[in-house]
Amino acid sequence: MIEHSRPTIEKSDFEILKNVLHSSHLSENGLVGNFETKLKNFIGTKFAIATNSGTSALHLTLLGLDIAKGDEVILPSYVCSSVLNAVMYAGAKPVISDIELDTMNMSLGDTRKKIFRKTRAIILPYMFGSGSPDLDKFLELNIPLIEDCAQSLGATYKGSPVGGFGIASIFSFYATKVITTGQGGMILTSSSKIFNKAKDLIEYDKRSDYRIRYNYKMTDIEAALGLAQLKRINSFITRRREIALYYNKAFSKCNILLPIPDRGHIYYRYVIRIKTPINKFIQVLKRKGIETKPPVYKPLHRYLGLDKKLFPNTEEVFKSAISLPIYPALTDNQAKLIAVAVKEAL
Ligand SMILES: *Cc1c(COP(=O)(O)O)cnc(C)c1O
Repeated sequence: MIEHSRPTIEKSDFEILKNVLHSSHLSENGLVGNFETKLKNFIGTKFAIATNSGTSALHLTLLGLDIAKGDEVILPSYVCSSVLNAVMYAGAKPVISDIELDTMNMSLGDTRKKIFRKTRAIILPYMFGSGSPDLDKFLELNIPLIEDCAQSLGATYKGSPVGGFGIASIFSFYATKVITTGQGGMILTSSSKIFNKAKDLIEYDKRSDYRIRYNYKMTDIEAALGLAQLKRINSFITRRREIALYYNKAFSKCNILLPIPDRGHIYYRYVIRIKTPINKFIQVLKRKGIETKPPVYKPLHRYLGLDKKLFPNTEEVFKSAISLPIYPALTDNQAKLIAVAVKEAL
């Protein structure tokens, strides 16, 4: 079976983890700080805070912006429920925006219509490894913009890495993300206010006052793996782009929609849109030993029971989008098998 996604773990990763275990410092003893420094320098922000997941990074960022009950936060319909959860944890009201058909990223036009007096933040997830072509215009809305880079570490917008444009950005290092720590996340920001508040709330111990705080810290075990993975980010991205280029060529004559060209795309996912029913397509490929998936399990407006007619683009994409296997460990031979099988299934 060719899996839909898998982490890229190499021999050196085992060595690095062995060393941490030998050191007996498993929680926080320098490696977390190193990882924070390396990532913020890579993206270009002043501060970084490592967390135990992308979801907790997003939650702390919202708290860092003083978002609470009565505030509204805009997020897109076509993203995993983690983003919705973070807004709910903060006690804020989620306001759901439709997406663009071509990029499958949050719609600027629909977002504009949903900005009201109580809007306190916009969460912009860069879906599938591609930044939003409308980023400049999102920034001009003058609402604090949180870039969700969970799927797009290393992607660029106008030549600069995403994650350094908004008031803050978050990353995820879940097992199948661009780089992994097993579970983990990061907040990047150049705002000392967000940094200080998130830093205060991330841990409960050694505090003179009491307020609700969290235990959202990353461990040195995770950071050690993260550091090793981050070193290889350029080769990871190069390999992802190679496979995407191969798929682009292989499918150029097929009657399907391919990812729209973007020089900054890192192809975290290779998402095609097909005309045949997706469930049938998934079954046919499964019989050929290839795992494919809808890229988002269920759109958020459906979870929230909102009127489907208000999210026409998300509905259209939800019915037609399929994510093909793409990751650095995928071999040329596997990519070839996938291309042949997809063309047959179509
Ligand atoms: C994975 C993901 C998250 C959540 O990250 P976790 O580390 O799993 O909590 C948030 N947003 C997006 C866009 C993601 O892909």
